[in-house]
Amino acid sequence: NADLAMYHAKEEGRGNFQYYSAERNAEALYHLRLEADLHKAIAANEFEIYYQPQVNVDNNRLAGVEALIRWHHPSDGLVRPDVFIGIAESCGLIVDIDRWVLTQACIDGARWYKEYQQDFLVSVNVSTMHFRQPDFIDFINATLHRTGMPAKCLSIEITEGVLMREIDIATQHLLALKQLGVDVAIDDFGTGYSSLAYLRTFKVNTLKIDRSFLIHIDQNQADQAIVSSIIELARNLSLEVIAEGIETPEQLAQVVKRGCHIIQGYYFAKPMPKAELEQHMKQYL
Ligand code: C2E
Ligand code: MG
Ligand code: MG
Ligand code: MG
Repeated sequence: NADLAMYHAKEEGRGNFQYYSAERNAEALYHLRLEADLHKAIAANEFEIYYQPQVNVDNNRLAGVEALIRWHHPSDGLVRPDVFIGIAESCGLIVDIDRWVLTQACIDGARWYKEYQQDFLVSVNVSTMHFRQPDFIDFINATLHRTGMPAKCLSIEITEGVLMREIDIATQHLLALKQLGVDVAIDDFGTGYSSLAYLRTFKVNTLKIDRSFLIHIDQNQADQAIVSSIIELARNLSLEVIAEGIETPEQLAQVVKRGCHIIQGYYFAKPMPKAELEQHMKQYL
């Protein structure tokens, strides 16, 4: 597969300017091919949701799960969301993709709710373009009704970027989610460029500390200070806080001693297929 090989060659050839235009060409071609393939992916049933546990460290029980999309590409195998979400955003397909994920996650969440009668949260990522659709709230509402998913069990993850422009629509949609009883989490908190003032205006429920602040937290005092501040900010605003990307016992200890009790990361569990999560739930819910 020539264009894919070129794409990978890019990694090795970095800094070698002779390859620059060839690299760029290959990358553009690869993106175009993925974009064409993405248009067919929903109908061809190539997407799957993986679920990653969010664990309450106080009792080692499941507090919730995050739905993370996976794409089984017919020839390239598993393509990571970091590769295709950006492409889907640039061509607008992200709205259909997000809505597919939201629907499946609500179908699953409704079933888990009936089976376990537990209020654990199913979190779904919503891209900025999707969040700003005029019928965003109608779609959420219709999906909750259609699937029987209780609003209180759904959490919507948005990034700070949502709150930076078109403030009116963001305000309306956040208020409407609150009225529905749907949770809102700020994903990758601290990595956007928005001001903290939005926390005063917008009613959100949860801050998710970005993994970039946690990778080196064991050695890096700046990271420690930032993470302490985020946790304290959350506490003072009565928000929930989740540490994302915890892989080691040292990282875990660092966030727990600072007062963060909900953890999502490979230390506990990687994102996993639904059937595997359901086994996991029997033990940890
Ligand atoms: P995110 O929403 O911040 O999701 C967390 C990412 O961190 C996931 O990557 C997860 O697998 C990864 N992660 C969790 N714990 C660890 C850890 O301990 N170590 C490491 N190295 N990684 C960890 P994933 O699944 O590859 O997704 C990447 C991003 O793609 C997501 O970041 C989200 O921004 C986006 N994404 C995924 N699914 C969807 C979707 O359905 N819709 C939209 N709009 N975006 C999605
Ligand atoms: Mg997320
Ligand atoms: Mg994140
Ligand atoms: Mg992200």
